[in-house]
Amino acid sequence: MSPAPRIVIVGGVAGGASAAARARRLSESAGIVLFERGPDVSFANCGLPYHIAGTIAERKRLLVQTPESLSARFDLDVRVDTEVVAIDVAAKVVIARHTRTGKETREPYDALVLSPGAAPARPPLPGIDDPRVLTLRNLGDMDAILAAIGRGGLGRALVAGAGYIGLELAEALRQRGLQVTLVERLDHVLAIADPEMSFPLQEELVRQGVDLRLGASVAAFEAGDGFSAVLAGGGRIPCDFAVVCVGVRPETGLARAAGLELGPTGGIRVDDQMRTSQPDIYAVGDAAEIREFVSGEPALIPLAGPANRQGRIAAEVILGRDSHYRATQGTAVCKVFDRTFAMTGLGEAALRRQGIPFRKIYVHPADHAGYYPGAEAMTLKLLFAPGDGRILGAQAVGGAGVDKRIDVLAVAQRAGLSVFDLEDLELCYAPPYGSAKDPVNMAGFVAANVLRGDVELWEPEELAGPGTGMLVDVRTFQEFAKGSIPGAVCAPVDELRDRLDELPRDRELLLFCQVGLRGYVAARLLTQHGFRVRNLSGGYRRYTMEAGARTQPLACETPGR
Ligand code: FAD
Repeated sequence: MSPAPRIVIVGGVAGGASAAARARRLSESAGIVLFERGPDVSFANCGLPYHIAGTIAERKRLLVQTPESLSARFDLDVRVDTEVVAIDVAAKVVIARHTRTGKETREPYDALVLSPGAAPARPPLPGIDDPRVLTLRNLGDMDAILAAIGRGGLGRALVAGAGYIGLELAEALRQRGLQVTLVERLDHVLAIADPEMSFPLQEELVRQGVDLRLGASVAAFEAGDGFSAVLAGGGRIPCDFAVVCVGVRPETGLARAAGLELGPTGGIRVDDQMRTSQPDIYAVGDAAEIREFVSGEPALIPLAGPANRQGRIAAEVILGRDSHYRATQGTAVCKVFDRTFAMTGLGEAALRRQGIPFRKIYVHPADHAGYYPGAEAMTLKLLFAPGDGRILGAQAVGGAGVDKRIDVLAVAQRAGLSVFDLEDLELCYAPPYGSAKDPVNMAGFVAANVLRGDVELWEPEELAGPGTGMLVDVRTFQEFAKGSIPGAVCAPVDELRDRLDELPRDRELLLFCQVGLRGYVAARLLTQHGFRVRNLSGGYRRYTMEAGARTQPLACETPGR
């Protein structure tokens, strides 16, 4: 590559703008042309739901950079409203067309970076082309949703798809005062989460007045006597407008037409330097197929952090640095009204699909010392390798502090730490911020106890099988009276030493308490007295989350509607 290469970038938002800025910081002499099909560059697409909600009051706050400010700071040739329509790979030229004038230009490149992103999926349903069926990807889409809200007054909105964007949008529309129906094909929200971990989000949605329809899918949109969504299997939901949030598809048309190889996921195949099958063409962001961290398998993981890092790496490689992109863990966080869900690595369902052996534990600690005001409980699920305790994934749901714990675990996972290392982590603590034994340490203790054989665990699904052991609730009689697992007997942990004779020695005892800790204490005690025992990790609280996720009614009508 010459010392003053001509770098052409397609797509001017997360990956593209990062590549451009990094390239300029590394080379004052490079010629950098940035093409963007839309009118805006470097805008905060992650902030769109929050402007719809009104939380980010001013639209202009979403414009992290304008074409002018980007050009001024980084000496870029920014061409907005200009779509790259073809790549002449042999001549190393892109053909760009102005979206309004139709004027075409040819732009030669030494290196080309593709960061075209992913487009919202629009399934081919009858009525999907009705102007009242919207999607959310860019500022224009956001403006259309705001206009639809304005038109209908305090009307009714339907959101199809309860992934991250659908959830954020459902909240935003509720905050605007609309009646919101959220339709999800699966039997739980947030497909990427394990069902019991997304159950608290479902409770929160219903509590906040969202009409949540699980296990339901939109089959058509109908404009007759008013506008409505028709559900598969019957049922009609009248609404003023609908927003389809059923996932995204990588924008690979340009790459495919240029003969670039696509991978098995349909994304643009790249190596670990973001290089495509064509020398001098790089692909980054949502359109690029990367490796998933745990399995090493090809994957599409559309997140802003990875897109930014990949853009940076592509620029570095183009300008002669030996940079490498390692893999994507899928570390993500989502706010659903007053609840937060976050995760890193693979969930239980994904591990099963990949055939990766795992163990799992649950803890329900508070985000900070319980005696300091405002402590909020979270549920933290840790998935780890049965042999060496390598961290495979973590999910957490709760209020404050969920993001911090998953971030710590994401770093631990990236660094190749095991659950034994989590026991040793020294994390900051004062009562307003945490506990002397941080939730991450707690998860490490519990997981390490399992791997060291200090305690054996039982799983709720075993109860469906024949000949299970005797269920023993080691909470207090008062707690037991408020609800317990059907068939359990109560033997409070603090009375166990005096009541050993009442427990059978010829049957295995399946212990549980509220969150798992008293059950563990009881398990240690009883084991040392010669009983055969196992404990339920996460206790009765986890049991109710799983039971709730299994029995969640398909339609949760909003009270008073
Ligand atoms: P984009 O940022 O989408 O940029 C691609 C750009 O390329 C587009 O502007 C497009 O117009 C342009 N383009 C495409 N083809 C051409 C062409 N042929 N010629 C010229 N220009 C072209 N991720 C998170 O990690 N956290 C979040 O909280 C989060 N929230 C989100 C909320 C919403 C509503 C949305 C839509 C996304 C969110 N994401 C979030 C995902 C994140 O925004 C994307 O992963 C990231 O923007 C991908 O970067 P990219 O550069 O690949 O694509």
